[in-house]
Amino acid sequence: MTLTPSPSWRKRRKRASLINSFSLNCRIFYKTPGASVSTDGRVFAIADRLTAAIIAGRLNIMTIYIKNGRVIDPANNFDAISDVFIKDGSLTKTPESPKADLTINADGLWVVPGFIDLHTHLREPGFERKETIETGAAAAAAGGFSAICAMPNTNPVADSVEVLSYIKNKAESCSSVRVFPICSVTAGMRGRELNDYAALRKYAVAISEDGKSVQDDSVMEKAFFKAKAAGLKIFSHCERESLMNGGVINDGAAAERFGFPGITSETEETIIERDIRLAEKAGASLHICHVSSAGGVTLIRQARERGVDVTCEVCPHHFTLTDEDITDDDSNFKMAPPLRSRIDRAALIEGLRDGTISAIATDHAPHSARDKEGGFLKAANGIIGLETALPLAISELSRVLTPSEIISKMSLNPARILGVAGGTLSVGASADVTIINPSERYKIDISIFRSKSKNSPFNGRAVVGRVIYSIISGRVAYDYRQTNR
Ligand SMILES: [Zn+2]
Repeated sequence: MTLTPSPSWRKRRKRASLINSFSLNCRIFYKTPGASVSTDGRVFAIADRLTAAIIAGRLNIMTIYIKNGRVIDPANNFDAISDVFIKDGSLTKTPESPKADLTINADGLWVVPGFIDLHTHLREPGFERKETIETGAAAAAAGGFSAICAMPNTNPVADSVEVLSYIKNKAESCSSVRVFPICSVTAGMRGRELNDYAALRKYAVAISEDGKSVQDDSVMEKAFFKAKAAGLKIFSHCERESLMNGGVINDGAAAERFGFPGITSETEETIIERDIRLAEKAGASLHICHVSSAGGVTLIRQARERGVDVTCEVCPHHFTLTDEDITDDDSNFKMAPPLRSRIDRAALIEGLRDGTISAIATDHAPHSARDKEGGFLKAANGIIGLETALPLAISELSRVLTPSEIISKMSLNPARILGVAGGTLSVGASADVTIINPSERYKIDISIFRSKSKNSPFNGRAVVGRVIYSIISGRVAYDYRQTNR
């Protein structure tokens, strides 16, 4: 095999034979990181570039055969060792004698529907120093997500057709991760003038003022009626500003220890109570973002029991950590809502167990090192979460939830909350498949993360469960072994 210049038809033939050789050998190639498919180093280099092209989605593998995995598909109540076959971007029945461009041996692995994140901050446009649509989508694929919702607190705010379609088009041009933009409740997120939801509904999957709440109750009441008329759901970040008192940390042991002003649970509960009441009055659909307090979970449970159309999500950091885990003034533990008490965390886990909390969402909130300077008193709120969600969910929730329940809260239920396709491995569905090693034990290493920002309190934390592959629309969007060898 030579790479010296040759007439173009010969080049094409060589390339075709290399692709064949790559296809035939890809299993060996995948299984033995660092090994070459040929003794010829140049062939290896080309195969490497081909793999990179496949991962980048530039070269479409038409068929993928995932064999012997534990296939967990909550939508079909399926949990058994089985095969999954992908053809032309869709899930199909496995043929009698399966032959594919790429075969993945999923022995000992979970094969599940691609995750859907209800709560991502992509930061673009306006804050590209923290994250871009491209780096955020890459982090999503690495975390096993095939679709994410982009929160509107960008600059300019996502409150217009221009900004919403910019986000969507940019995402389509640089990633196979599906990005669903969310539009703000009010113009410029200034809390006064409502956006024209009917005009934006084609471009936005939901409405949210995330990062804060609309403080004026009468504005919010009108928003629920208008959202109901447009057929869009409101995602509520719940925080009453008049009760904040400059708080930067949970009002409890940690606030006392550090002498920092505390944020009470009442700050959250007041707005949860208000928004449930207003949504009920308007007959609108409400989704509570990142519930953090025991009282908040109780309010949502009671509302659901009396038939209010309300769902909610919890973030991995809130079911993993409490304010007792904050041992020094490290702003990687600062987020809104804050890490709460042990009692609150137990209530969140109980809410997940009894179904009050049907979704796990990341609130992926990248910030540059500069934005996180100055400790709790000065630093920006938020932590990254796309690349730590799955291992934290498996590590923390396996005691109380079945694997199917965990997967459901990260894929099927978010799809249902959004009213979008996805979250299933049904034949005919888009081939969005995540493959997980559920028993791999390791320490989280933020240095390998795809996110542009590294603000995570979980670096070095021992976890179990790793995302091995993200396949989106039938293409390999992430391959852990290939990327990190
Ligand atoms: Zn929020």
